[in-house]
Amino acid sequence: MLTERIVPFEAADGFACNLIHVRGEREPDKGPVLLVHGAGVRANVFRARVQTSLVDMLVDHGYDVWLENWRASIDLPPNPWTLDQAALYDHPAAVKKVVAETGSPEIKAVIHCQGSTSFAMSAVAGLVPQVTTIVSNAVSLHPVVPRISEFKLMVAVPIVSMLTPYLNPQWGLHAEGLVPNLIKGLVALTHHECDNAVCKQASFTFGTGAPTLWRHENLNAETHEWIKQEFAHVPLRFFQQITRCVRAGRLLSVEAFPELPADFTAQPPRTKARWAFLAGERNVCFLAESQVRTFDFFQKVRRDYHSLHVLAGYGHLDVFIGKDAAADVFPIILDELDRAH
Ligand SMILES: [Zn+2]
Repeated sequence: MLTERIVPFEAADGFACNLIHVRGEREPDKGPVLLVHGAGVRANVFRARVQTSLVDMLVDHGYDVWLENWRASIDLPPNPWTLDQAALYDHPAAVKKVVAETGSPEIKAVIHCQGSTSFAMSAVAGLVPQVTTIVSNAVSLHPVVPRISEFKLMVAVPIVSMLTPYLNPQWGLHAEGLVPNLIKGLVALTHHECDNAVCKQASFTFGTGAPTLWRHENLNAETHEWIKQEFAHVPLRFFQQITRCVRAGRLLSVEAFPELPADFTAQPPRTKARWAFLAGERNVCFLAESQVRTFDFFQKVRRDYHSLHVLAGYGHLDVFIGKDAAADVFPIILDELDRAH
């Protein structure tokens, strides 16, 4: 039986975020682990309708689990966030809050997609020195997408940005106004892979795939249905940044904050953390090559220290929400977290 409490924290610019602290029946005997969600979802994305979620497994193995709702979370008010804002304002504040709440000077992190890119930015800029082990899924410093998705980003993002400040997979269920209805109609015309309107809108929002974010055969029916409540607003401001980064092949800052480098790969990373990179071999949102390149980048800094796991048969988010992830993926994550750094 798990219990949870919401622990509010203020990002460095005053934006109100929160952590979900999950506990089991026994006291954790391992240190804190921070889980960081991606774009257009929320902290709850790590608790899919499966027999054993990653949260269950971490708690069972004695970890003290903290789920971060950063400014991209759909539990928080829509805002035109950038990766820079998350890297400078949100993640360092979340890490400090966990350190303060637990009294542990060191923590570990499991980070996914845009939670991973932005957290990697914090790490290489030297803003989260308390984090000793980082398990990253899908993409970190080098976003690589299929060529058709890059074309879509370059063509569609400037046009859609003029029409709406946000995309929202909930439009599949409730569309009000011209642009939401136009996009709902476009998705209905072009996506026939299932009858879940949010699943199809999420595929449209995050790239080119049917579906884009998981392989249907990796999800159970309950999780496929649960997706309907787990995806909502994503700002075009983010898509503008990721389009620049995809074209450059690496993460670039867009806000000119003096604490962040212009190019996150142009200087040695200011982190001593050990990295474990996960990449779904069948990921069509961000290709596995994304993580291969960042692993190579860290290998050059310190050889035979970091690790890379290319997961056969897995896509993007099914690494965490897949029906067999507890058998196929979570033991790898546990093993990486358990290793002495
Ligand atoms: Zn579907």
